[in-house]
Amino acid sequence: MTATRTEERTTTGAAVLRTENLSKSFGGVHAVAEASVTFLDGKINGLIGPNGSGKTTFFNCVTGMIRPDSGRVTMREQDITGWAPHRIARAGLGRSFQLCRVFPRMTVLENMLVAVQPRSLGQYLSGSTSPATVERARAMLARVGIDHLERSEARDISYGQQKLLELGSTLMSDPPFVMLDEPAGGVNPSLIERIAVLVRELNDEGTTFLVVEHNMDLIMRLCDHIVVFDRGAPIAEGPPSVVQSDPRVLEAYLGV
Ligand code: ADP
Ligand code: MG
Repeated sequence: MTATRTEERTTTGAAVLRTENLSKSFGGVHAVAEASVTFLDGKINGLIGPNGSGKTTFFNCVTGMIRPDSGRVTMREQDITGWAPHRIARAGLGRSFQLCRVFPRMTVLENMLVAVQPRSLGQYLSGSTSPATVERARAMLARVGIDHLERSEARDISYGQQKLLELGSTLMSDPPFVMLDEPAGGVNPSLIERIAVLVRELNDEGTTFLVVEHNMDLIMRLCDHIVVFDRGAPIAEGPPSVVQSDPRVLEAYLGV
């Protein structure tokens, strides 16, 4: 099964996430510069742009990892500007990191269980994690395709498998809106395809996505709506076919 998406699904809808004049500088570097962007509820949204265009900084401002210098962030019409990450997560946002974050000395299954609630590892070790939670974790591992690794320590599985584990643990809390930062980075093509198929299935089941990615091919095949960043702000947006043929996008990527 390939991840080619038909564009007839692309329609305008309600905003899942909106930023207004969002800015963040590091010293003299305007990593995010007055960015006003809207991502659509129910869709697979993409955010692309050349290296250093501010995608990760934007992502971190939106998810509460860093505080923007100015501007506003709203998620499903709720102002979440400056909220702490755990509060944003509780409001329904699941996220993964560009540089994968798993607990290296915990097993794959334990990583899934701590994702649901921080106390679950203790509960798991003391035998008090509910069987239903363990079953759910195993089902999710099967879904991301690494259930055969449940007893391996996370540090012993491949980087691509760690990314799948991180994705699986993000999904354990059943977030209605998921943001992924470079899910395909450093991952081999067959695992990239698995991620793409999973994102598509979850979207069909109702999960909204924002995928930040350097891999143009993946984004073009996967997304309904794409925003292109250059120098910290959007320069183009629309369905894949429109973005792909926009001369500003080619210029930003190729410097032509
Ligand atoms: P992208 O994810 O699109 O590659 P980033 O958001 O990582 O872009 O970076 C945007 C710009 O901000 C780059 O010039 C980068 O060097 C700079 N930058 C990002 N994070 C920091 C930081 N913590 N300290 C200083 N500069 C940073
Ligand atoms: Mg980045």
